[in-house]
Amino acid sequence: MKDFGRTSPVGDLMLERLIDGNKRYASGKLTHPNQVFRRWSGPPDRQQPFAMILSCSESGAPQEVVFDCGVGDLFVIRVAGLVLSESVLASVEFGVRTWHIPIVMVLGHSHCSVAAAALRAEDPPSPFGSLATRLRPALERSKRLPGDGVSNAGRAQAQVVAEYLRGAGHAFAGPGAADRLRILAAFLNQGSGMVEILD
Ligand SMILES: [Zn+2]
Repeated sequence: MKDFGRTSPVGDLMLERLIDGNKRYASGKLTHPNQVFRRWSGPPDRQQPFAMILSCSESGAPQEVVFDCGVGDLFVIRVAGLVLSESVLASVEFGVRTWHIPIVMVLGHSHCSVAAAALRAEDPPSPFGSLATRLRPALERSKRLPGDGVSNAGRAQAQVVAEYLRGAGHAFAGPGAADRLRILAAFLNQGSGMVEILD
């Protein structure tokens, strides 16, 4: 079976577009493309997002800003802690199938309050508990790594989610999708503003 982690010509081009935008963000040279008001008309499928970003909800990581994109450019799914749920998976499936998006970036970030809280508490109370429970595999994977525990957890969570999506890709993206869809993990360092590609 083909792997959703491999590169494809269109996916690579769109990844380059994301990285270029992020370089502008990190260097303070935003160009704000597609950020003027445009009246939409016709059916909703006229939009054509070029990338999907699955990320944490926190205010330090707004994706249209981090990648210097605008209206209609990105299909963004944000959930506190970057955790998976049935609704998140359904959103990924909807975006991929509806717009044939060639790249799904699962983006963890530094200074994640959700990861930090999960690291502090073994059994936190509900409703946060359900987020912390879903972060456990990432905390387990990263707990012996040297360096900053919160950043390590953020990286690990992006990798755990990306690996899951790659495994489930044939079911949610449809037959033949691995030829045109790349799913990768990445990490936003809020200290530098730079996004690092993990795999
Ligand atoms: Zn976060």
